[in-house]
Amino acid sequence: MIWTVAVDAPLPPLSYEIPEAWNPERGQSVIVPLGSRRVHGLLLNPASDAHSTNSSATKFTIKRAVSPAADRPRLEEARLQWLEWLAKYYIHSLGETAELSFPPLAKSGGRRKSKKSALINANSIQSAGNAPAFELNPAQREAARAISDAEGFHAHLLFGVTGSGKTEVYLECIQRQLALGRQALVLVPEIALTPQLIDRFAARLGERIAVIHSHLTPREKTDNWWRAQSAEADVLIGARSALFCPMPNLGLIIIDEEHEASFKQDESLRYHARDAAIVLAQKLKVPIVLGSATPSLETWHNALSGKYQRHDLPARATNASMPEIHVIDLRSQREKEKIAGRRDNDRPFWISKELQFALTDTLERGEQAALFLNRRGIAQSVFCPACGTKAECPNCAVSLTLHGRSHLVCHYCDYHETKKEICGECKEGEPQPLGLGTELLENDLRSLFPAARLARMDRDEIRSREDLEAAIRGVEQREVDVLIGTQMIAKGLDFPGLTLVGLVMADVAFNLPDFRASERAFQLLTQVAGRSGRHLEGRRGQVFIQTYNPTHAAIRFTLAHDYEGFAREELSFRSDLNYPPAQRLVALRFAGPDADETLSTASRVGSLARQLIEIAPFAGRGLDVLGPAASPLAKLRNQFRFQMFIKGQDAPALARTLSEAIDKNRKKLPPKVKIHIDVDAHHLL
Ligand code: ADP
Ligand code: ZN
Repeated sequence: MIWTVAVDAPLPPLSYEIPEAWNPERGQSVIVPLGSRRVHGLLLNPASDAHSTNSSATKFTIKRAVSPAADRPRLEEARLQWLEWLAKYYIHSLGETAELSFPPLAKSGGRRKSKKSALINANSIQSAGNAPAFELNPAQREAARAISDAEGFHAHLLFGVTGSGKTEVYLECIQRQLALGRQALVLVPEIALTPQLIDRFAARLGERIAVIHSHLTPREKTDNWWRAQSAEADVLIGARSALFCPMPNLGLIIIDEEHEASFKQDESLRYHARDAAIVLAQKLKVPIVLGSATPSLETWHNALSGKYQRHDLPARATNASMPEIHVIDLRSQREKEKIAGRRDNDRPFWISKELQFALTDTLERGEQAALFLNRRGIAQSVFCPACGTKAECPNCAVSLTLHGRSHLVCHYCDYHETKKEICGECKEGEPQPLGLGTELLENDLRSLFPAARLARMDRDEIRSREDLEAAIRGVEQREVDVLIGTQMIAKGLDFPGLTLVGLVMADVAFNLPDFRASERAFQLLTQVAGRSGRHLEGRRGQVFIQTYNPTHAAIRFTLAHDYEGFAREELSFRSDLNYPPAQRLVALRFAGPDADETLSTASRVGSLARQLIEIAPFAGRGLDVLGPAASPLAKLRNQFRFQMFIKGQDAPALARTLSEAIDKNRKKLPPKVKIHIDVDAHHLL
């Protein structure tokens, strides 16, 4: 029997001979020869089927499959259709897409005695099954009821301010599904997948949970995958890739912090886990809940249009009020100081008087503070005051960041060098640090508050999962008075003692050449602010936002706790400029070792795209091709980068046709120039 098989390679499905004795079925995995290799393949259709493609032309070369892939369960039809949709929509090989459905290693031999995941804290298991110490409030109850009552596919937006008890609503909905004998999948951003969160789920749902994220060993991943796949676990909590685990009785999908950019994968299959999850829920005919205090504008747009059903949790669930937010205008700080002559000698340049006083106050009360700055190191760059030369990475078009006293590092590649005493360019000036980073904050705070216990959380300090967990535990157990960190501390963390949050320089987030910069800044500010005073009663948590741009929309609306106002204003900009969610956006990226060759390749693909727009079925569809232009990060790791955008409702379809045209002409294009198509692109740098 000849079957079309989706092979694990960047190729379209191929034909293979499959012995009848294997009882071949659609969705079954096999091992097939491919060149000199053996790869996994997924049976799609018998070649006689109307669905089969190009098989007759290749009849002579049809090879025989090697064996069934005995350790891989057959994928059910709905999943298979979902994988087919993903491969087509994101323009990726179906075989490679399907490969994501399986664990990295073979199933471990023998029955394991302990089913419990090693990731789950034994203490939380003991309290498992316990109801929470409180009852759901009316808003939570109503949301959980509405979500659970609707059978079949429904997309829900759980729009709840930070600390409004969204997690409790998830837990309630999950418990109702478990009671019906179904499984649930909870996707959270990788960075939020902390022991805190897992313990919280384990404490309520017991040990029948599995966890999948990228920091597990391949063995741990494999074991957790099997526990979910065999329904030994009822609940799977994971980062975006957990979506691919073929759970047999999936009855509910939850995407927590659905707005998070990390749900978008930027290599290989460039999918967005939230969007992919919506389609999966549709195929499986199950409900899906998207939760956020700051929904992505795509999701908000769908909620406004009625495509998603919205449930609001307008207040914090504890008796705590929303934090009080103060905006500190760094420009007028500077002005005041100029007029006053000098600033206080012992106050570092990056901290305002207001924030310093608040910090002193917080420490005197024995409470905790967090300072947020989305920049690592001592200084963001080093420049020569005599000739103006900036220390740049030789491989990337970015400046080198100063770490420690003299260590210059590129944050994009491995390059590092020692800071020179005298400028290499003019041989005169002494290079000076410019800007600031978390390491500098820590050093300065050490002299400012010598008695305070400090901890820093950024990618320099936190290199492993263990580091992250230890750091979180340190703050929880009050071994830390001031936490300093990058976006690592922005999300999800719930520290009862934390009553002051300072955003040292909010502007870092605004000034990026990306149409989502403002949306991301608003989300970040709101999320960071939401860490403050989550459990205070009778007094509000404090937030200080230091900025050079106090009238920026992201700040104005954060200050007013007004997501809806922000969304209204931002959606109207997007619509005026034809950006998502008003229109679809596809990015084409070109990278190569030679700038001219890369640009000319991009230009050729650009004219191809413009030609395609003129002909049916795209003619008159309002599609637009922009560029090519140099990417904001014009050179990374010695690769010159250019990008081009297709805008319009039909952009994904045009991209598909364009991709076929590129494949056909691939031999005429320089082999060293890599071309990537990113449908619904998110990262535009
Ligand atoms: P979110 O996920 O919306 O940020 P959480 O679910 O983490 O909010 O809840 C915030 C805090 O409020 C948690 O400490 C939680 O235990 C508590 N909480 C949630 N629901 C209630 C409730 N109904 N009554 C009292 N406390 C609650
Ligand atoms: Zn570099």
